[in-house]
Amino acid sequence: MPIRWRLTIWFALILCGILLVSGTVLYILLQSYLDAQVDNNLRIYAARIHGTLNPVEIPQPLDYEVIHSRLPPINEFASPGIYIQLTEKSGNVVVKSNNLGNQELPVDFVLVSEGLSGKTAIGTVAAGGGSRVRILISPLYLGEKVLLLEVAQSFNHVDATMAQMRLALLISILVALALSTVFGNAMVRGVLSPVNKILQTVKNIETSSDLGRRVGYFGPKDEIGELAVTFDHMIEHLDKAFRSQRYFVADASHELRGPLTVIRGNLDLLKRNISEADKMEALQAMGRESIRMSKIIDDLLFLAEVESGEPLKCQDVSLKGILAEEAERAKNIAGRRKIILKKQQDVFVKGDAQRLRQLLANLVDNAIKYTPEDGTIVLSLFRDRDWVQLDVTDTGIGIASEHLPHLFDRFYRVDKARSRASGGTGLGLAIVKGIAEQHGGKITVTSKPGEGSSFTAWFKV
Ligand code: ADP
Repeated sequence: MPIRWRLTIWFALILCGILLVSGTVLYILLQSYLDAQVDNNLRIYAARIHGTLNPVEIPQPLDYEVIHSRLPPINEFASPGIYIQLTEKSGNVVVKSNNLGNQELPVDFVLVSEGLSGKTAIGTVAAGGGSRVRILISPLYLGEKVLLLEVAQSFNHVDATMAQMRLALLISILVALALSTVFGNAMVRGVLSPVNKILQTVKNIETSSDLGRRVGYFGPKDEIGELAVTFDHMIEHLDKAFRSQRYFVADASHELRGPLTVIRGNLDLLKRNISEADKMEALQAMGRESIRMSKIIDDLLFLAEVESGEPLKCQDVSLKGILAEEAERAKNIAGRRKIILKKQQDVFVKGDAQRLRQLLANLVDNAIKYTPEDGTIVLSLFRDRDWVQLDVTDTGIGIASEHLPHLFDRFYRVDKARSRASGGTGLGLAIVKGIAEQHGGKITVTSKPGEGSSFTAWFKV
């Protein structure tokens, strides 16, 4: 059963339960209130009748004519629904109110015997035709004779009220059930609609293998809204990851195919009858290309390791020490280019020294590669509030702005021929970015063609 219907049925059942309990309590309270009102009425009527009687004036022996003339004017007390009757011990009715007509009040022997024993008794007696009367019996002493005063009230109006109450409760419960089902269902459907959209999107992605589909949720930012937005983000990440993996495989194959083609071509050449000098050249070319291939594979393996998300070796690394080492190394390979160490603050970051050294080495190697012999490369390290900035600035060829957003992509090269000629694999900056991110940092670049570039690695401290 769909969750929408399960929730709706639960809502309706809970509401029904609450209405039943509160309706029953209300019903019982009303019933006892009306019963008590009837009893009170009867007691008040009986008390009034007793109050009007002066038994001293009644002569002995009892003469019914006299008694009738002296008895309380019961018809004055009787009112529609209130019946009064005086009976003898034997059960003979002495006098009764006119509204009884030719009927008498029903006899209940328990009540009668209690009344005769001098007590006031009250009880409900069936009056035929399904109706009930409440009767209050009290002894009325006339000299030595005891009469029973019976004051009765029909329960008809109470029963009619209670029947109406039952009907009203039943109707209100049914209406509440119907309304809660209709509105509850509509409400749950509205609340769950993003879930249905997510489900539909998942099904579409599953059948079409198209990770470009999104839920596209617009609405309140509640838990379900957050689920829909998070789902879209997750699919976005997956889409990016799959796409970059696809490009990566294509790029890697493409990059490896170049050296392989050269090696195969030279192998074919060697099979032929060629001069010793040509053989030598072919062998050298094959050697160069195999070195290139192993560099690409080494870089790829290193990049995969950096991006694998494996936990880092976490040591306190002195960036100043690394910078000094790297400056020394750079001076040995920079030729006539000037290497300047500027602003060296003694800062430590948590991370892997080996990888941080690799990050700096890649930036410095690039700076040397893309800066003419008379250029300058400035290395600096400083702290700005929570961030440490490790900066490599050169006065080299610079990079046009349209290349900057792709610079850190794998195998991206501004000038392919130049990069290849200088032994570049196009993976250096992707490795730099991977290492920086692995240390919770980032890498930024500013550059102007013909003026130089500045690469900055940022780390949090
Ligand atoms: P490569 O192995 O080709 O150097 P990288 O990933 O290290 O690959 O760099 C990507 C591209 O960015 C390079 O091909 C080059 O065009 C450009 N580049 C990197 N560093 C610099 C720099 N300091 N000056 C100018 N261009 C640079």
